[in-house]
Amino acid sequence: MSHYWSSLVDRLTPYVPGEQPQLAKLVKLNTNENPYPPSPRVVAAITAELANDGERLRLYPDPNAGRVKEAVAARFADYAITPQQVFVGNGSDEVLAHVFMALLRHPLPILFPDITYSFYTVYCALHDVAYRTVPLDEDFMIRIDDYATANGGIIFPNPNAPTGCLLPVAAIARLLSRNQQSVLVVDEAYVDFGGESAIALVNEYPNLLVVHTLSKARSLAGLRVGYAVGHLDLIEALERVKNSFNSYPLDRLAIAGAVAALADDEHFELTRQAVMRSRQVLSGELLALGFEVLPSLANFVFARHPQRDAAQLAAALRQRGIIVRHFALARIDQHLRISIGSDAECALLVAALRDIVG
Ligand SMILES: *Cc1c(COP(=O)(O)O)cnc(C)c1O
Repeated sequence: MSHYWSSLVDRLTPYVPGEQPQLAKLVKLNTNENPYPPSPRVVAAITAELANDGERLRLYPDPNAGRVKEAVAARFADYAITPQQVFVGNGSDEVLAHVFMALLRHPLPILFPDITYSFYTVYCALHDVAYRTVPLDEDFMIRIDDYATANGGIIFPNPNAPTGCLLPVAAIARLLSRNQQSVLVVDEAYVDFGGESAIALVNEYPNLLVVHTLSKARSLAGLRVGYAVGHLDLIEALERVKNSFNSYPLDRLAIAGAVAALADDEHFELTRQAVMRSRQVLSGELLALGFEVLPSLANFVFARHPQRDAAQLAAALRQRGIIVRHFALARIDQHLRISIGSDAECALLVAALRDIVG
């Protein structure tokens, strides 16, 4: 605390992202990055944007990132999404920050699961949003009946993080039909690893906002691109906040790369199928080692060993050069969240675990 700080800063407890070690040799299974490189078209598009000694970098990017909005709308053409129904930001974390400010800041508390993306409480503190957590059931599943109370909004990831558990789109539709007084935000950071997107419901429910990122399934965590899809009214609220904060959240390279990534269906299919196959194999191997593994539809698994302390397991893995995520939080302090790596990385993890628990 400092005399110079605002009273707001004094009250903040910032989000702590998973470690990004400088040691390249580590097997990094702690932040759900994609083990495969992005589409080669991304690199080509960024290189083209840098033509003539980077001459284009003199100029500001399109403040609206219109080409990205068009690429998103084209990807969801089956659901008749227009570019005007798309909001883009510097990673979905920025999109979410604007969502809390623009759509979730009301007198009534918002609702989210007790076990969920830990950034939500951080945004609540930053933007002075009241919240109430709703416990997941004993199988770590979201029970939509538990959200049937007056609220200032509802938000959860689907699949949920860090559990990986998926709520079917039909359940989301049921929740929407019962909850029409406030916005439902579905954070679909991991939906491409086997889930079904609620974007299918956007044109039916004016209070549904679906948030996506290019960080996970498009292998672009380093480029920082996220977006939201919803009714024009919701998008306008987000644009108002964005244009009161930063006119140019996406730089020229991010715009070029995002458009190229969204256009490469083939690369997207190959890599996400590979991750899903590896998840299946890894889950089986963890079960064989005595772990309990939650059914995951994300690019990570959430597992615990009934006889081994999770923090000690994480430390033992780290000694062997493998990093996974452990959360010292109620209900999940005996679990580990393990990102799906390449097959070689998964094999190293399994060998290390066999050594530790075997
Ligand atoms: C990774 C993640 C995000 C953030 O993604 P960025 O686009 O990289 O900011 C948002 N929500 C959840 C649930 C995530 O796991």
